[in-house]
Amino acid sequence: PEMAALVAGGTVDVPDFPKPGIVFKDLMPFFGDGPTFRKVIDGIVAHWGAGSFDVVAGVEARGFVMAAAIAYATGTGVVPVRKAGKLPRPAFSASYGLEYGEATLEVSEGAFVPGQRVLVVDDVLATGGTAGATMDLVERAGGVVAGFTVLMELGFLDGRERLSPRKVHALLTV
Ligand code: IMP
Repeated sequence: PEMAALVAGGTVDVPDFPKPGIVFKDLMPFFGDGPTFRKVIDGIVAHWGAGSFDVVAGVEARGFVMAAAIAYATGTGVVPVRKAGKLPRPAFSASYGLEYGEATLEVSEGAFVPGQRVLVVDDVLATGGTAGATMDLVERAGGVVAGFTVLMELGFLDGRERLSPRKVHALLTV
């Protein structure tokens, strides 16, 4: 409950972004608040347990910020899950549907030591399309998904069901 309140306190609802009718949850105030950011990162590490994963995969771009902090706190490394066309070496690629159009994410081939346990991180879980594609990529690249962790879950979009049976943790469900 304390973690949920910290995330809620650092979130601003932005109506009609990125398109009319969508209320975007802007978590930038949370990221900008040092004491809150540290407490929440520590809360995420405490939930999963340091030692339960070997590396952290962050989804571009806010996931990078969280992944780096979690990795630093646990002495693990970061693997970036990037938007299409950014990685310099051969990569696995996964496309998924958005409300309008398609998105593609990529992970470098050889990003993981086979069997490495990977905690996947993003800021918000909505429909689960991004998370599902990311976890597929992690597995194709040889990683084992330890779980998926977010600050906030939009519960009414049923993303969690879509990701079942993988472990999903959200500090705040709205
Ligand atoms: P999904 O693929 O529908 O689950 O959308 C999740 C992805 O879109 C994540 O990478 C989020 O960063 C981003 N996203 C979707 N809705 C929001 C929001 O309201 N606030 C911040 N990010 C969002």
